[in-house]
Amino acid sequence: MKIDKCKWKYGKQAPLVIMMDDLANKYMIDKKDGAYIGADWGGRCKKKNSWYDFVQRNIFEKYPYAKMTCFLVVGRREDFIRNGKKNITLPIDANDEFIKFVNEVANDERFELSYHGFTHGEITENGFIQEWDTFSDISEAVQTIQKGQKLYQKVTGQKFWGGKYCGYARNRFSDESIIKSHFDYWCRHWDADIIKGLDRGEESLELGFFGETVDIPSTIDGSLFSLKKIRYLLTRKYMKALYYCVKYQITLESIIDLLVSRGQILSIQSHTSPIREDKERQSPNIIDDIKNIQYILDYVKKYDIWYATCKEMNDYFRIYSAVDLQVQGDAIQLEIDEKLLKNVLDREIWIKIYDLDPEFKWYLRRGDEKFLLSQKDNFHITNLPVIKGKFEIIKE
Ligand SMILES: [Zn+2]
Repeated sequence: MKIDKCKWKYGKQAPLVIMMDDLANKYMIDKKDGAYIGADWGGRCKKKNSWYDFVQRNIFEKYPYAKMTCFLVVGRREDFIRNGKKNITLPIDANDEFIKFVNEVANDERFELSYHGFTHGEITENGFIQEWDTFSDISEAVQTIQKGQKLYQKVTGQKFWGGKYCGYARNRFSDESIIKSHFDYWCRHWDADIIKGLDRGEESLELGFFGETVDIPSTIDGSLFSLKKIRYLLTRKYMKALYYCVKYQITLESIIDLLVSRGQILSIQSHTSPIREDKERQSPNIIDDIKNIQYILDYVKKYDIWYATCKEMNDYFRIYSAVDLQVQGDAIQLEIDEKLLKNVLDREIWIKIYDLDPEFKWYLRRGDEKFLLSQKDNFHITNLPVIKGKFEIIKE
């Protein structure tokens, strides 16, 4: 008899999250009359033509099961350059409308709000420096994180479970500042380059631990267009996709197929606003790339995908890592490494058993409790509570 832990909840093939960077109380305005110009970072709240309105209409109305982890800048989101495009930028507690908005999103189970710095960085003589590169020592980094957590707690009554480095930039003590701040998970690097064959040594496309924090990789560039979207034939992003195909022999579809076949996460990287103050289009961004992101969400329908936030993936990964399964005759023994579970609330492990005779109904039994094994492909599957002990395999 062969028994395995399922790598993902419900025995799904791979998880998918839309990573939405740079949610902030900010939006772009016209330099003459101060009117909103249709580029929102979140500051327009739920108004018509806001970022929220856009993702409602284009993502959640079509894919109501999708999950989005939004990386929130809690203080005043710094401009990329001085005297750039005009915008309104404020901390998250500056106005009642945004306070109400951020609370609604924080309590909406389609979303997770995650930490993305206090300011995102600083403008200096040498250009824009990303936030974790601005800290001169570990205590400055930790204190700034505490300030960010405190402000978020004041506004929502909640805490951040995880976050992401601004621009994936970090220095020699950044990771320590995350571990010391007791985050459950953190998004530290851009792992998609491995698929291009560019290995920098740290990326793995897998979740893993650094200290007691879980590392969640970013794996799909939302602006890498499918070559099948020929309506974009003359765009720069289409040319990039063509270049990737010729130079690295990869396409959007081959990347997705590869990740799913290995049970690795599909974390689709995007940004809120299409426009930044330094006049560049922000790339990737949800507005310009929406047809491609919809294409991805349609393309993966052929797979058995688990739609989950980063926190939900972190929780299941911790369970997967904490549980040790051993077959003892006609029983399974569960051993648990409790310290890995940290703040996991929904403590269930999914397991599969191969080679059970499909003529019978199979159960796992512990005391008075019975857990039915349902047949799926060439195995039987069930979920068990994450508690140390023995489960007998029985049939009826
Ligand atoms: Zn960012």
